[in-house]
Amino acid sequence: MRLSQAFLPTLKETPADAQIASHRLMLRAGMVRQTSAGIYAWLPLGWRVLRRVERIVREEQDAAGAQEILMPTIQTADLWRQSGRYDAYGPEMLRLKDRHERDMLYGPTNEEMVTEIFRGYARSYRDLPRNLYHIQWKFRDEVRPRFGVMRGREFLMKDAYSFDLDREGAQASYRRMFVAYLRTFARMGLKAIPMRAATGPIGGNLSHEFVVLAETGESQVFLHRDLLDFDVLRAATPDYEGDLSPMVDFWTGRYAATDEEHDEAAWGAIPEDRRVSARGIEVGHIFYFGTKYSASMDLKVPGPDGALVAPEMGSYGIGVSRLVGALIEANHDEAGIRWPDSVAPFAAAVLNLKQGDAACDALCERLHAALSPDCLYDDRAERAGVKFADADLMGHPWQAIVGPRGAAAGRVELKRRATGERQEVSPEDAVARVRESRKDVGAG
Ligand code: ATP
Ligand code: MG
Repeated sequence: MRLSQAFLPTLKETPADAQIASHRLMLRAGMVRQTSAGIYAWLPLGWRVLRRVERIVREEQDAAGAQEILMPTIQTADLWRQSGRYDAYGPEMLRLKDRHERDMLYGPTNEEMVTEIFRGYARSYRDLPRNLYHIQWKFRDEVRPRFGVMRGREFLMKDAYSFDLDREGAQASYRRMFVAYLRTFARMGLKAIPMRAATGPIGGNLSHEFVVLAETGESQVFLHRDLLDFDVLRAATPDYEGDLSPMVDFWTGRYAATDEEHDEAAWGAIPEDRRVSARGIEVGHIFYFGTKYSASMDLKVPGPDGALVAPEMGSYGIGVSRLVGALIEANHDEAGIRWPDSVAPFAAAVLNLKQGDAACDALCERLHAALSPDCLYDDRAERAGVKFADADLMGHPWQAIVGPRGAAAGRVELKRRATGERQEVSPEDAVARVRESRKDVGAG
């Protein structure tokens, strides 16, 4: 993509109302535009990142055996009356009426709807287990939308729902999602620590949040210091046989809990210098709630012995749009964003330091063609300083910098955004290095 023709509006000024780095940088880099409180339009740069995050989430859900569907955003209140949550949910639910005065709502989550769909088809225990997910916009009329996409009112969530014959099956499904989550966040270069969590309006009695530690995070969390270095993914095995409940940290054996579930006694048993109390961003949340929805919504299938059983269920959320903010909180510096390779909007920017110079133009065109469509070519008639600043702000993992001296010698200066490291290489090497960094995630 050529920057001279792109809709990539960067801002020089720091927006006054943005309180945290990720919000400021998303506005300055032209990723999103607020259209009303807590509601954002995603502009090309932001949209590319959102799609990449979504793709990683989708691949790991698919790999874990979940099957993708797409449920609508608008739901009928009747479904929620069946589960009893229509009145319980409160003012966060956006309630609507259609022209026939029927009560509708913009879905804040989909337990009821997916239960109704599954109920329509499940004929026997042979239809279990199943896990259905979708990636869809949600609306929650938050009291205080803030921090940009981090706490929006309209936001993109991946939500999966598992149906199992019995408790053992349901716990196996829970573990499989748990591991899928660890893999998902690891692929984004994010350290998200699983913590025992409260279940809130979703219900149930077993739940984990995945939390990225950050000073600007809205959650208060408590954890064993070991977890800062612990590779939970390595410890986790989906075929773990132990019981999940009661449990704290069944793979690490270390304490980690959110505010609501914090246990002073367990905390007190940890040596003082190993206790970390910190702020964090909740990027995912998983729940095992048994038959809460299947029982209230009359989802039953004949089991192997013919007797009717209500499937054991769980639900599994990831804040896809919140992740974009969380990724920036975890990856930025004074100059701007530093995208991890796997989620960057473009793998590289090509910076032409002397637009109009025949050798510079030719070399840049070559690089752009070789890396397209995963490349942003800064072909504007701007000063070098402006191009450097915008590339640092937008955070491309690589910058291929082409000036007259280098171009004459057929050399490119390749800068790694994350480390600031620069190297002079041939155009072929530059292309190879950039492609190599995206080989696991594709260029599209
Ligand atoms: P929070 O405690 O942050 O309000 P929640 O516990 O109400 O979130 P869940 O019902 O667990 O949210 O939703 C699943 C995921 O959706 C959360 O882990 C979070 O990443 C994301 N999410 C929830 N609310 C918002 C929001 N207002 N804006 C952006 N993402 C959100
Ligand atoms: Mg939650």
